[in-house]
Amino acid sequence: MAQIIDGKNISSLVKEDVKKEIEALKQQNIKVCLAVIIVGDDPASKVYVGNKKKACEATGIESLEYALPADTTEEELLCLIEKLNNDPAVNGILCQLPLPKHINEKRVINTISAKKDVDAFHPENVGHIMIGDYTFLPCTPAGVMEMLERTGIEVQGKHCVIVGRSNIVGKPAAALMLNKSATVTVCHSKTVNLKEICLTADILIAAVGRANFITADMVRQDAIVIDVGINRNEQGKLCGDVDFEAVSQKASHITPVPGGVGPMTIAMLMKNTLTAAKQQNNLI
Ligand code: NAP
Repeated sequence: MAQIIDGKNISSLVKEDVKKEIEALKQQNIKVCLAVIIVGDDPASKVYVGNKKKACEATGIESLEYALPADTTEEELLCLIEKLNNDPAVNGILCQLPLPKHINEKRVINTISAKKDVDAFHPENVGHIMIGDYTFLPCTPAGVMEMLERTGIEVQGKHCVIVGRSNIVGKPAAALMLNKSATVTVCHSKTVNLKEICLTADILIAAVGRANFITADMVRQDAIVIDVGINRNEQGKLCGDVDFEAVSQKASHITPVPGGVGPMTIAMLMKNTLTAAKQQNNLI
């Protein structure tokens, strides 16, 4: 049976570290503030925003929530972002995705000041990640790296196979793994021989968005399996992309869903907000 990488526990440790630094900043009269924008009534987005708010409370970060109606125009949203960009009391800005169809996500991402872009989606920050010289790392792949590090798993020299190539998970995860000297293969829906490639992975990262997509026959004995997926199975239960029951019999380490990468993502958002505040106060 694989060792479970407990994201809930590791995320608490990360948040504890952030909390200590926030307290130290308060002693210097520096407050840390995250502005979270949500447009519309998407239930999943509301849960995510609620969890982010709770994490802010737990770490001592002030949070400002802007819940805008679904018919908010793109111009109104961009106007709010510009206002927050120019507000020195706001250190980080996050606009919860997905946005309603009439709003251009790319324009929204590009409007958030790169210095307050705690999601690290702005092209300027993406460029910094590619050259390995960054302030912010995208929260989910950064959470994966933090989990591996705190579990004592060495990445250097390992073959890391990532299934999924999205801009928010797969691609930045590949860049971070490469920056840590792993040998990286990125797979996607057009990949031929996916199973054979997965079987060569020392570290297998699943970011597909399909329940039970990674089955035990795709996993090498004693591989490390990181499940980024968040799905609902046929019974409506939260699950990842990996067939946890079967794969955990084969892997050396595995992340569960829930309680794996999800809580790490939020902890890394807190860390990014702290970093933004330190940078804006010339402390780094
Ligand atoms: P996405 O943008 O939909 O990307 C999914 C990726 O999977 C795409 O690159 C797609 O390939 C690939 N794919 C789809 N079918 C495939 C197949 N049959 N074989 C191989 N690859 C296939 O999703 P995402 O935003 O990266 O999210 C992925 C999952 O992670 C979702 O379940 C999401 O909810 C979850 N997630 C979790 C967190 C967290 O905090 N834990 C954060 C973000 C996302 P193509 O590019 O060829 O279409």
